[in-house]
Amino acid sequence: MAKQMCKNCVLDESFPSIRFNEEGLCQYCTSNKKIDHDKIRLDVETFLRQSKNTSGKYDVALAFSGGKDSSYTLKYFVENFDLRVIAITIDNGFIAERAYKNCQIVTSNLGVDHMFFKPSSKKMFNLYKDSTTKDVHSKTALMRASSICNSCIQVINTTILNFCISYEIPIIAGGYIGGQVPSETGFMEQNLDMTYQMREAFLKEKRTTINNDALQLLKLHKSDKSITVINPMVYLKLSEEKIIEELLPLGWEKPKDTGKASTNCLLNDYAIFRHQNKMGYHPYVFEIANSVRQGSMTREHALKVIEQDLSTTDFKEIEKKLGLIT
Ligand SMILES: [Zn+2]
Repeated sequence: MAKQMCKNCVLDESFPSIRFNEEGLCQYCTSNKKIDHDKIRLDVETFLRQSKNTSGKYDVALAFSGGKDSSYTLKYFVENFDLRVIAITIDNGFIAERAYKNCQIVTSNLGVDHMFFKPSSKKMFNLYKDSTTKDVHSKTALMRASSICNSCIQVINTTILNFCISYEIPIIAGGYIGGQVPSETGFMEQNLDMTYQMREAFLKEKRTTINNDALQLLKLHKSDKSITVINPMVYLKLSEEKIIEELLPLGWEKPKDTGKASTNCLLNDYAIFRHQNKMGYHPYVFEIANSVRQGSMTREHALKVIEQDLSTTDFKEIEKKLGLIT
């Protein structure tokens, strides 16, 4: 029998804690909790127009994967605010060749300082291996992204936070969209001491689960300051077509080898495949359902993404690289 699916978005009964009402709508579609994205946008833009860091060299560190969302975020920052931005790309060893080129072309055309940081492949692959075979992340974290993606996001966040702490940069920007991060967090203040304590507790708890080498990637610097985190895509709510249309004049091109759900990472499909097998639902279904709900993705396109069958895709090369097979 086909699984029951919400008649409005695309969440189905395989998603944790899902409930449907008599009309067949899920609790997320019937929630009264309305977030005023226009208000968040106004608050963020007012804040950014008044921000000027006098101590450090940069005002904003932008987590820049070269994918469509972070590329658009970079363009938004450069074109709308008088801020000194540095774009930072973490090379996880799986950046598509075209995405690499996109990083260079986009930053060059926008006139932004850019830095590639490549953690040791040995550490990264160990982290991916443990993320694939062991319970590294909480069930809640897995509702928003695969285990591999969660680990990668943690490395990116750690690297950029450490960079900001070292160089006294007060703002971090990212290209997360609604559903990937809570919608309220288009704009948020992060207490770095609290983040540090939580991370230390996580590392302590995982010291027998995650390879010691890989754990080093997640170590945070200590700081008693706070930092502002901004994810403009959460309130800008643009469709994929619109984003790509805006990026083309910058020389950005969609890579052809990154699968249906990513525009930069060659590991993404494998991460999805493992997540689907273990958890029984697509790791992006929550964010995709959110995009359908707010009208930035059609339901038809959403279904195409989440119903993609990866069972016949050959992942041997990736599994060899990660040391999962010999
Ligand atoms: Zn729904």
